[in-house]
Amino acid sequence: MPIGWIRDSAISPNRARATERNRREPSSFFDQIDRTVVAIAQDVALMVHRVLEAEVWTRWETASDETVCPVCGPYAGHVWKHDDGPHPPLHPNCRCRRVYAFTAWATR
Ligand SMILES: [Zn+2]
Repeated sequence: MPIGWIRDSAISPNRARATERNRREPSSFFDQIDRTVVAIAQDVALMVHRVLEAEVWTRWETASDETVCPVCGPYAGHVWKHDDGPHPPLHPNCRCRRVYAFTAWATR
């Protein structure tokens, strides 16, 4: 017993919690099937995630009015991977932004 401990005063509060934690929940056959199916689905999702990689693509969006500048105008509607290509603002008072376009799944 470590120095400074008083017998049972430190152990008993934890014992109740440990007993509660280790108690076996009675569960029906269907609960067990339910847990098994969820575990299999999680494993499949994990395997798919290891093989495939999500690539988020974003679309350049201008303010779409007559004052869009000649620098940004040509980019309107173009899509890039979220970390590729030019990012607004390209100049002072630029009102452009890149918005989510779609997600592509690539094999690793
Ligand atoms: Zn702009």
